[in-house]
Amino acid sequence: MASDAHMVIVGAGLAGARASAELREAGFEGPITLIASEPHAPYDRPPLSKAVLLSEKSPDDCALFGDTFFADHAIDLKLSACVVEIDRAARAVLLDNGERIGYSRLLIATGASPRVLSAPGSELPGVVTLRTADDARDLAARLHYGQRIAIIGGGFIGLEVAASAVAAGCSVTLIEAGERLLMRAVPQEIAERIDARHRDAGVQFRFDARLAAIAGASAAEEVRLADGEVIGCDTVVVGIGAAPRTALAQAAGLDVADGIVVDDGLCTSDSAIFAAGDVCSFPHPLYGCRVRLECWKNAEDQGRIAARNMLGENLRYREVPWFWSDQYELSIQIAGLPAFGRETVIRETADALLLFHLSADGSLIAASGVGRAVGRDIRIAQMLIGRRARISTEELADPSVKLKSLLAAETA
Ligand code: NAP
Repeated sequence: MASDAHMVIVGAGLAGARASAELREAGFEGPITLIASEPHAPYDRPPLSKAVLLSEKSPDDCALFGDTFFADHAIDLKLSACVVEIDRAARAVLLDNGERIGYSRLLIATGASPRVLSAPGSELPGVVTLRTADDARDLAARLHYGQRIAIIGGGFIGLEVAASAVAAGCSVTLIEAGERLLMRAVPQEIAERIDARHRDAGVQFRFDARLAAIAGASAAEEVRLADGEVIGCDTVVVGIGAAPRTALAQAAGLDVADGIVVDDGLCTSDSAIFAAGDVCSFPHPLYGCRVRLECWKNAEDQGRIAARNMLGENLRYREVPWFWSDQYELSIQIAGLPAFGRETVIRETADALLLFHLSADGSLIAASGVGRAVGRDIRIAQMLIGRRARISTEELADPSVKLKSLLAAETA
């Protein structure tokens, strides 16, 4: 790529920020512009729902890079800047302040935004979401001893906030539309462990619950359910999922279908434009279909690959998905996509419950685990999944058979 080429990245979350660093890492010496809608330099999100809510860290401690990183690497980081249009014909983006920035290659890494409630009262003060550093700062200030926190949604945001809120001495009621926690994300057996741990900590659950309204004189004071129950609260945290921010891509005429459609090199339907992270829908070779993943590892890996391909390399994205969540002393980890499994094998150890998900042809396609120590086994499972290993169900179920030995056998 010629050094007068201009690399422009829209979105400075993990995928966009990582891509900007990778462009320099790969030796690109031309101009790089990284456009951030928030007023903060790029930061890591995982601590926001844990250490930041517990006031163990401030959002400033979550910065992805040191203070001078962008200046040192001659990356033009534009904060509080909003791209309003992609002019594909002219290869330029237009900012809301009227500035026009030409690009040779463009990366769209606009992420996802929290879904909003439509119930009456959802706009009242005290009804909050958690996505950004500012959201985390605001919510942390609300989690005081004795506060009553109502959480709408039993997904990862809801559960991580619940664990942090009880640790801060709040009383927590979590309201979930489905019949159990993490309905789409983890198998029943894993969800039951998580459910039990939250109940032990004092979290109260309402399942199959329909929200009728949030009410209060000048701020949220109660959550009203369709069955007539009224739950008193000081704060309502909404964690009902996220939607990919595709509006810019759509308006520019790029292919969009539950995310910006990219090929296995993360290139969109326009060869000068790439997309990475939560916002893109990509073909996964292991599962034989398109997927869109909202997780840290995917943003990290795709940011790097997109950057390399913007420079003319031809890397294919084929990482085995990996996801983790920490709640209390429990770690929940998932490698691969369990929903694609046809058979499940359970392995139970003193420290963890592990589930191995096999495809119709008997190969390992995903693994999920919960416990105090699941990281090592899930990491090994991730490698086995990448190799499409076929392992006997007896060995998988037997905790005395070390997963590492199965990996060695596969390699032999
Ligand atoms: P999520 O994990 O998709 O969970 C949303 C939950 O809310 C689902 O169980 C959903 O049920 C339920 N729900 C939807 N509408 C509802 C309603 N009106 N009333 C009650 N419940 C409702 O989404 P999230 O927790 O909001 O998190 C947002 C994104 O951030 C996700 O992609 C998540 O993976 C990510 N995240 C990741 C981490 C991590 O990596 N550790 C931590 C936090 C968040 P249905 O499934 O039945 O719709």
